[in-house]
Amino acid sequence: MTTERYHRCSHCGVEYIYQGSGANPPKFNHATWCPGCYEAALEGMRAIPRRYECRYRPTREIPRLESVTLETLLDWEARNRTDRAARGELPITRIFTPLIDVESGDAQNVREIRGRDEFSVWRFRLATWRQKPEHKIDVPMEYDLEKKCFTGQSWR
Ligand SMILES: [Zn+2]
Repeated sequence: MTTERYHRCSHCGVEYIYQGSGANPPKFNHATWCPGCYEAALEGMRAIPRRYECRYRPTREIPRLESVTLETLLDWEARNRTDRAARGELPITRIFTPLIDVESGDAQNVREIRGRDEFSVWRFRLATWRQKPEHKIDVPMEYDLEKKCFTGQSWR
């Protein structure tokens, strides 16, 4: 499904059609800027190198997160769900593309679990299998593209 609607450019004030979803969006499609201003913005930013990007890192490589186990995450997941229900919120969970084992037919369940207490700044990505007992826990972190290393900050 394609959604299109009229937007007014926040820079030049021209009214234009913005394609919010769907296949084959027009070139220089942006929710805030008209195609002309967006093209100019991209051209202007071309000289500015990208400094950071989000990369997921296994928690076993991060000493201060080593204590967060599968059991910890499952407990937080249940408590987060209870807290949301108490606030009248829907039980929405962010999910990720799973791996599928073609030979056994097993499939992953990959979801995000918000940390609690002193870990509340972290969003943990937990990958479990329906049949296999193995699991993987990682977190989105800020990666410095110039120094080629993680900064230690969570990616928010
Ligand atoms: Zn404009």
